[in-house]
This record gives sequence, structure tokens and C-alpha cells, in this order.
Amino acid sequence: MTVLRDWRPRPDDRANPEIDRGQLRDLLLGPLDVQWGRGVTQVVPGTRDGVLVHFADGRQETFDLVVGADGAWSRVRPAVSSVTPHYTGVTSIETSLDDVDTRHPDLARLIGDGSVAVYGVNRSLVAQRNSGGHVKVYTKFRAPLDWHTNLDLADVEAVRSSLLALFDGWDAPVLDLLRNGTAFVHRPFYVLPVSQTWTHVFGVTLLGDAAHLMPPLGVGANLAMLEGAELAESIATGPGDLDEAVRAFEEQMWARAGRWAKITMAGLERLVSPDPAEALALFDQVQPS
Ligand SMILES: Cc1cc2nc3c(=O)[nH]c(=O)nc-3n(C[C@H](O)[C@H](O)[C@H](O)COP(=O)(O)OP(=O)(O)OC[C@H]3O[C@@H](n4cnc5c(N)ncnc54)[C@H](O)[C@@H]3O)c2cc1C
Repeated sequence: MTVLRDWRPRPDDRANPEIDRGQLRDLLLGPLDVQWGRGVTQVVPGTRDGVLVHFADGRQETFDLVVGADGAWSRVRPAVSSVTPHYTGVTSIETSLDDVDTRHPDLARLIGDGSVAVYGVNRSLVAQRNSGGHVKVYTKFRAPLDWHTNLDLADVEAVRSSLLALFDGWDAPVLDLLRNGTAFVHRPFYVLPVSQTWTHVFGVTLLGDAAHLMPPLGVGANLAMLEGAELAESIATGPGDLDEAVRAFEEQMWARAGRWAKITMAGLERLVSPDPAEALALFDQVQPS
């Protein structure tokens, strides 16, 4: 295997901090009174008492403002827009390894303290170290949405064989990441149209993936968190009119999200490309030399 680039952060480099999802969630939501498992089924704006929210447990409540931060398949989004996500043509199967330093020391060395990325024709594999010796392995490849018609995605060994066939010819350590993966999760990449906006609806807004689902190229969680903070700030420090504060927030979010949607769509084209050199060229553009 030939290492084409080896990027190491400088001691003062704070550009791309990483944190496990569970840790981030505990950090952000730990102090809050979250009613887990209380799914929203529908949001109806414009009722006499405010915005009506239907919950999966059959209950209904009205609110002054409903913020749809409920991800790609948002149940709040239909209250402001009829748009739905569409498939990018790139799908992903994710697997993971535990106790990598003790169980798979060679793979631990390959991944190092960060991640290792390997690019081929219309496919790629990235292994990323999480905390506690846990490693996430993401395969990405171009395929029609129904590529797995003859594959039982719940059958771990069948999925493993299918991936080993797809990555046939890749170097042994890379394939070992798949051979030692414990479970496989299929995640087709869907996106919302680039630069999508909506006609402002009194009492309802969206943020994060619900507002601007884009290819997962390392910005989605950051945008969602930034937008949450900006919406709160706009309401807290604005002119006192809740609706004006939400409108101002939306304008700011749409402009930035539109720029990132273009960047990440173009990035996905280059990272899962017929010409693997495109991935390298992209990294050379964004990484400090
Ligand atoms: C493989 C992969 C790797 C990624 N890597 C990165 C990365 O390195 N960096 C980065 O910044 N981003 C990354 N992303 C993107 C990132 O995960 C998302 O952009 C981010 O999670 C969006 O946050 P969100 O809060 O908008 O939505 P989500 O994280 O999807 O959260 C939505 C929440 O709403 C809840 N919910 C959904 N429906 C309902 C309902 N009906 N009622 C009540 N609650 C509901 C869900 O349970 C969930 O808790 C990655 C994505 C993928 C798929």
C-alpha cells in the first residue's frame, strides 16, 4: 500500500476537532429536560392557539414556536415545505471494530490517532478512530438505490462478502477492516436541493439536516449546532418580536447552508469519483500543506 499523503495537526491546530456522537449528545443535552421517545407525527401551523403539534402517543399541544431539528426525514418540514430528500447515487455501509489497540494492533497503527482514507474507482473506505479503542469504518460507493435487492442487509456475513467482493483487489490491511467489522449499517446518502428555502411560516422553522440535508462531508453537525446557537441568540438579543427574530435567523441560515451544500455536493462527486486522483486533489485544496 502506498501512502500518498500524511497530514498531522500542529499542536496549536484547532481547525477540525472531533468528538464521539454520544459524548457530544450528553454534553449538549445532559442539562436539559428532554422527553425521549416522544415522537412528533405532524405539525399544523396557524391554529387559533398557536402551532399544533401531534405526538405519536396521541397527545396534542400548541406552541408559540416549533423548531424542526429532527433530521433528514423531518416531520416538521412538511409544515413549511413540500420538498423531500432525493438519493445522490452514492451509498455507504458502515461497520466498526472494538478494542482495536489490543485486538487488531496492525490496524490500530494503520489508522493512527485520526483516520485513514483509501480511494478507488467510484468507491472509498475511511476508518476513523473514536474514543475507547472504537473504530468506525465507512465504505462509500456509487450504486443504484436498489443495488441490494438480492442481498439480505441483516445478514452480517452476506454483507461482509458483498463488500469484500466490491473492494476485491485492495490491499490486505484495508480488507481486514471489513473482515473484522462486527455489524454493518446501510446508509444511502440523500440530500435536499441545493439552496432550498421556503416561504416563511409564522411559528415554525427548521435547522440542521431538516433544513438543508447535504452529503456528510464533515459540516452537518457543525452547521446544526451553530444554527441552534444563532436562533437562540437572534431571539434573545433581537428587537423583541419573535417572528422577526426567526425570519432574520432563516435568512442567515439559508445563505450559509446554500454555500455549504454546493461545496459538499461537489466534494462528494470528487471523493467517490471514476478518477481517484480527484479525491487527492480535493484534499490538497483543503488541507494545509
Ligand atoms: C456517516 C455519516 C458521517 C458524518 N460525519 C460527520 C462529521 O464528521 N461531522 C459533521 O459535522 N457532520 C457529520 N455528519 C452529518 C451529521 O451527522 C448531521 O449533519 C447532523 O447529525 C445533523 O444534525 P441534526 O440535529 O440536524 O439532525 P440529527 O442528528 O439527525 O438529529 C435529529 C434528531 O431528531 C430526532 N427525531 C427524528 N424524527 C423525530 C420525530 N418525528 N419526533 C421527534 N424527534 C425526532 C432524532 O431521533 C434525532 O435525535 C455525518 C453523517 C453521516 C451519515
